[in-house]
Amino acid sequence: MAAPGENMKINGDRLWDSLMDMAKIGPGVAGGNNRQTLTDEDGEGRKLFQDWCEAAGMSMGVDTMGNMFATRAGEDPDALPVYVGSHLDTQPTGGKYDGVLGVLGGLELIRTMNDLGLKTKHPIVVTNWTNEEGTRYAPAMLSSGVFAGIHTEDWAKDREDAEGIKFGDELKRIGWEGDEPVGARKMHAMFELHIEQGPILEAEGKDIGVVTHGQGLSWTEVIIEGKDSHTGSTPMPMRKNAGLGMAKVLEKVDEIAWSHAPHAVGAAGHIDVYPNSRNVIPGKVVFTVDFRSPDLSVIEDMEARLRVEGQKIADDMGLTISFEKVGGFDPVTFDETCVSAVRNAAVRLGYSHRDLISGAGHDACWINQVAPTAMIMCPCVDGLSHNEAEEISKEWATAGTDVLLHAVLETAEIVE
Ligand SMILES: [Zn+2]
Repeated sequence: MAAPGENMKINGDRLWDSLMDMAKIGPGVAGGNNRQTLTDEDGEGRKLFQDWCEAAGMSMGVDTMGNMFATRAGEDPDALPVYVGSHLDTQPTGGKYDGVLGVLGGLELIRTMNDLGLKTKHPIVVTNWTNEEGTRYAPAMLSSGVFAGIHTEDWAKDREDAEGIKFGDELKRIGWEGDEPVGARKMHAMFELHIEQGPILEAEGKDIGVVTHGQGLSWTEVIIEGKDSHTGSTPMPMRKNAGLGMAKVLEKVDEIAWSHAPHAVGAAGHIDVYPNSRNVIPGKVVFTVDFRSPDLSVIEDMEARLRVEGQKIADDMGLTISFEKVGGFDPVTFDETCVSAVRNAAVRLGYSHRDLISGAGHDACWINQVAPTAMIMCPCVDGLSHNEAEEISKEWATAGTDVLLHAVLETAEIVE
């Protein structure tokens, strides 16, 4: 097996032109994109991607969840394909690069291989996963989740948008319900290139994030109850202030997350205060504590300490407190061989790099459960994403796709 030479690079101008052409479909109101899943614009974007793939000599397969698989044949008929890809759908006020870079980066590496007349032992498949964003149809990463056996197809197709339109009906309407059974494909490996959606790479001046883990998440809903009473006429010793109880618990949440620095994080982003009136001491608060870490034992420790510390605070203040786990998923450890292929590629190409933990969920996190998987990240300006102002440079996109090319070629094995 030959490793690609360090001077082998993709065509950054061609990649950038394709990113800009795709961004013309479903333009946003502020320079970004609104190409939500299963809309007419999503259908149009899919058609353009299909046309490009076919022009590059690939054949398109589509499964019954609308996942698209463009195949470049390999030399060994028994070798399983190496997959690359991400998603073409966007948030309602999304950027031009979130997801799209991973799909069109995959296409660009095939175009580069065609230019160079490169052959590989394993086929290479460029993938567009349906409904990664999860805004129109919750949850996020829906179709890669069905592919990996996390959700059933029937359940996924029954999801409804805000207008009550079912996922399955919309998929048929836009004409992208394929005939392949979901999840039947077997993979040699899968690589996803994505923008970081965080500030670390740009702040440290690094070209490439070698993603080793995906953060796990835990949501605990906490309800604290005291007694509503007048803010003016209730003496301090006679108050049962649920709002103050929450403030003390949130101080602990912060302390608990800091105790597992640097990778653990914790906060409450959702808070309801009752009755939420200027002159009433809150008698009840409901809030959700969000803890994240790449290490499952750390998440479990943070959950347990929240319950112990929270109970102590409530007991001291004469309040009642209850805890319910309302959501979460386990941390992801990406495949060591695939991660090494990414790191080796960055080294070979002379790009600055660092290991990174993905703070957001990605299709690769589900696919990692059924195939060896890794992710490559490139910087984005101010870490901004899920925003029309999301921005990256052509150089960053090119570096990320160069690394994708090299990692894929090492894994798919160049022949001759
Ligand atoms: Zn994305």
